[in-house]
Formats: sequence, structure tokens, C-alpha cells
Amino acid sequence: MQFQEFKIDNLEQFPKELETLLASQLATIERLSKNDDFTYEGVVKPLQELDEELGAFFTPLSHLNSVENSDATQKAYEESLPQLSKFSSTVAQNEALYQKLKKIKADDAEAKRVLEHDVRDFVLSGADLTLEEKKELEDIEMKLSELGNNFSQNLLNATNGFEMIVEDEKDVAEIPESDLALARTEVEGKTVYKFTLQIPSYLAYMTYGSSRAYREEMAKAYASRAPENAEVIDELMALRQKKAKLLGFESFSAYSLATKDASSTDVVTKFLEELAEKALPQAKEELKELQEFALRTDGIESLQGFDVAYYSEKLKKEKFDFDDSMTKPYFEQANVLRGMLDVVSELFAVTFKAVEVSVWNEKVKVFDIYKAEKLSGRIYFDLEARESKRGGAWMHDWETHYVDVEGQTHLPSAFVVGNFSPSTDENPSLLRHDDVVTLFHEMGHAIHHLFGTCKERSVSGINGVAWDVVEFPSQFLEAFAYEKPILKRFAFHYETQEPMSDELLNKIKDTKNYQAALGILRQVEFSLFDFNLHKKLYQGDEVQALLDGIRETTALLAVPKYNKFQNGFAHIFAGGYAAGYYSYKWAEVLSADAFYACLDEVSGFNQEKADGYLHYILNRGGSEDMSVLYQKWLGREPKVESLLKLYGIEA
Ligand SMILES: [Zn+2]
Repeated sequence: MQFQEFKIDNLEQFPKELETLLASQLATIERLSKNDDFTYEGVVKPLQELDEELGAFFTPLSHLNSVENSDATQKAYEESLPQLSKFSSTVAQNEALYQKLKKIKADDAEAKRVLEHDVRDFVLSGADLTLEEKKELEDIEMKLSELGNNFSQNLLNATNGFEMIVEDEKDVAEIPESDLALARTEVEGKTVYKFTLQIPSYLAYMTYGSSRAYREEMAKAYASRAPENAEVIDELMALRQKKAKLLGFESFSAYSLATKDASSTDVVTKFLEELAEKALPQAKEELKELQEFALRTDGIESLQGFDVAYYSEKLKKEKFDFDDSMTKPYFEQANVLRGMLDVVSELFAVTFKAVEVSVWNEKVKVFDIYKAEKLSGRIYFDLEARESKRGGAWMHDWETHYVDVEGQTHLPSAFVVGNFSPSTDENPSLLRHDDVVTLFHEMGHAIHHLFGTCKERSVSGINGVAWDVVEFPSQFLEAFAYEKPILKRFAFHYETQEPMSDELLNKIKDTKNYQAALGILRQVEFSLFDFNLHKKLYQGDEVQALLDGIRETTALLAVPKYNKFQNGFAHIFAGGYAAGYYSYKWAEVLSADAFYACLDEVSGFNQEKADGYLHYILNRGGSEDMSVLYQKWLGREPKVESLLKLYGIEA
């Protein structure tokens, strides 16, 4: 099959065309739910093709709205969203379809998996409940979304309700000019510096602000934001627990795991505790080094939480004397991209051929992917920052690999988007090392989608992959971007063509591992708090007591009483991470373990293991649990020690 052409003929007409498409899809779904056909081929296959059809149509608009944003894209996008949400809730409430799916049998393993997921999703949205219970669930959902909004709003108000004015130049003397420029302001004809609790401003003072008193003032303001959120948390937790019980789960944590790779709540808690225990000895060493440094340089006898970022930055400078500007000239975008594609080509025996096809911006580069001379996918790179593009970096899947009702194979395509420094007529685009890592990361997501070879669309590529393992293939590829043999392939000075020195190559890795154990402990603290909080109902002071208990292991410095971190933990109280924050570390263990299996310190990688990774992991998408795929590949479970090794921690 041919790839879609990237174009939207008429943005103004788009919502109207979407309406027509959705209406025709609803009619098809209605017909499939009610006819006499109870075969997989006759019902579930065509349903999946509707998903592909909708994605193929809508993705260009959502993509364009992110990368070439304009009033016209916004308007079309905003008019489309309510239609899509109405459509999906109509489908989710289709009782006849649910009853039918439960009766359909499939022989093929992939098809069984698709059915399993479809039925599961119906159950999780309440399909098995009585009418009364359904109403109750609906009320809970509504209330939960309101409470999430309240939580964010309280936090936002508190964040915006604070400012700190610094008058004396000596108290801002160490702050870099780029940060200082943002803080500089005039009050009654006098130049002063204003700091707020917005993250860039807050971090600028905590990292470079030399006054201890000011750092303490900021830390206190930050950690005691939105006390009224304590009540919101109580209500949220009560409702989440109620929802989980209604759907037949023992706790919200157990409900969360119903769609994840981790097998049980105990497994998650044990995993996090093990990680903390193994990182602890080195974390203590890291803290001791920092305490000694603060004593030696400034006579600080008792290092406090609000000193940590400041002295960490200074110690880092003393130890490594290293910053982005030293490596940037060696990372010319075109070289990095070519180098990365070479690495992927060798690892997975594919070739990338540049093609000229229609795109949304002249800077976009497109490649067709060939596997054993056979066309197998297409990838678009849009890497440079511009005003019309939203910030950050991401991968967006467009088409999916699958075999349709007629037996035709469809090929996958995806977009990799970044915001790297733009090239000009005089200068090439130069990347920071962080950007190089980001590019590898997003490419890891892209090949998870593009190298999928499943026949069933709903479990092919990144489709059907559990949330706590989606970052596995991205972090896997990212890990290569710190390795000398890999970097040496493309790190050449853009003017002199000189290769990067070993000294610089070493520093790239060493700075990554700086205070890594302390970082792990912090992540474990957040994850354990989130996960255990959702294991049973905690209310009022019990919430703080739970956090204090976890901190007995994870916090190496005493936490002051004013610190109410939980009231600002928007990821889990106002975002999608509830009982899921552990996923970052969970996926990272898989990535690290897989990485060491595939790494060869001399040549870069172990070809035989890379073949296995392609065959068992990338090709299989969401067709089986990741833990099962992993077991099939290496014949064992991933080891927590691999993650520690990745950060240079001896355990
Ligand atoms: Zn990612």
C-alpha cells in the first residue's frame, strides 16, 4: 500500500468533513454491533480499520496545529475536539457492541489480545455495572475532574501570589545574565530583581542565588503553597477509592495496574523499596561530599534543603568545569541525524533513503525505510525551533502497520519533532548534548512504532503497549547517546572537522552520573508516596504520616515542618499519573537492562542481541505483555542492578 500524502486541502472545511466521517463511522459501528455476524474477521477487523481511517484523517490536523500553528489550525482543531470526545463516549457506551465482543472467538494470538483489550476497556468504563451504578460512576468522574481542576487552580494562584524583591546586587552576583535579565525590573526608579515561584525564576535563585536567607524564603514559600489542597486531596482520594471499589478492585492502585505491565501492587512497592535500598549507600556518599564542600567553601556547618541546589551546582563546576558550549560545535544537526540513522541501520539491518514528498515546512526531512530491499515505513523529521511550533520534543505516530480485511499490508509512518537551534544561511543548526539525547529518545519511540510487524492494528507498533513500558524503547535508544563509540561516529567540529576529544567524551558521561543516587532516591520518594497512597484510603494527617514514613529512608536531610510537598504534586492529583508515577523508573529498568544486553563497549553494540531486541520487542508492539516479550527475548527478568549501573552506581 502507498503512504498517505501529507496535506489538508481546506482547514475551514475540516470540521465539517470530520463530522461527515464520524457520522458514517457511527453508522458502520451500529451496523456491526447489531448484525448477525459474530466472527472476528467480520466485526473486529473492520472496527480497527475505522480507527486507522480516523487517525489517518485527523493526525495531519493535530500535527499541523502543533508544528505550524495558526488561527486557522486552532479554529479547526478546537471545533474538532468536542466532536471526537462525543464520538468516543458514544462508542464506549455501545452496550450491544460490548455484548457482541464478549461472544466473538478468535484463534490467532494477536486477535485474542485485541479482543481481550476491547472487552477490558468496556469493563473499566463500567459496562458491567447496573444502571444505578453507572450513574454513580458518571457522577464520580465528573467530580474527580472538577477536583483536579480545583487542585491546579489553587496551585496556580499560590504560585502567582508570591514575589521576592532583591535589591542588593551582591545577592544576585552569581546568577547567569540570561536568568538575571528576566528578573531585572524597576521599582520607583531603582533597578531591583524580582523572583517568583514560576519554575525558571524559582530555580534560578535556588541554583545560583548566594543569599541563604533569600533561598530559605523561596524554599519555604514554594513548599507551603496551596494549603487548601489538603482538603482537595482528601476528597480526591475518597472518590478514587470509591471508583476502584465500584469497578471491583481492592484499591485505586490495583485499578491502575489493570492496564499496566506491572503484575501486582506488591511487586511495584517491592521494586521501589529495592531501588531505594540499593541507591542509599552511594546517595549518602554524594551528600557527604556536598556537605564537606559547603563547609570548605562557605563554612556551612549544617547543610539545609534550600542549600542543596546551590552547592550542587558549584561542586559540579569545580569537579567537571564543563558546559554545553564546549560540546555544541561538535554536534552539527545534519551530522547527528546521519550518525543516528547509521546507528539504527546497523543495529536493526534497515536502510533510510531520503525522499521528496509533500511536507508542512521546507526544513522537514523525510526518509523511506527499507528492510531487506523492501519498503517498510516512512519517517519525517522536523527538528528546528520556530515560532509557530509548540515547545518540547515528541514522536507522533500517523499510519500503522497492519493487514486489512482484504489481506493488504499497510505500512507505518511517524513524525519526530524537536525544537533545536535553527540553522541560518550563515550557520548550521548546532545541538546541545541534551538535544542529541532527545533525538535518540524520540527515535526510540518512532522505531517502536515503525518496526512493528503485527497483523492486527490495535496491537501493532505503539498501539496497545502498556503505559508503564512505553518509555522502554525510547530510553533504550537514548542510553546509546552517552557511549563513546557511538558519539565518535558523528561528533566532529563543524568548522575544523576535528573529532571530539576523549576528555570531553568522558565528561559527557560523568556529568550525567553526577549525584545520580540522590536523584534516584528523590524519584523513589515521589513514586512510593503516590503508589502507596492509592493502596488504601488515607485521610487528613494520615497522608502526611505516610510521606514522613517514606522519607525516613529516602530523605537524607531533615525535612522542615512547613514542607507540604503533597499540596503541589500536580502530576498525581491533577494529571494522569495517579498510582502510575513509578512508571518512569519501571521502564528505565527495562531500558537499562536491554541496553547492557545489546552494548559492546568496543564496537558499540552486540549484533546478535540487537537482532533479538528487534524480533522480540520492537516487532511485537503491544501484542503481548512486555514482561512476557522480555522473558522470551533474554530468558530472564530485567535486573534492577542494570539501572544502577547505567548511572555509575555500584550495588
Ligand atoms: Zn518518551
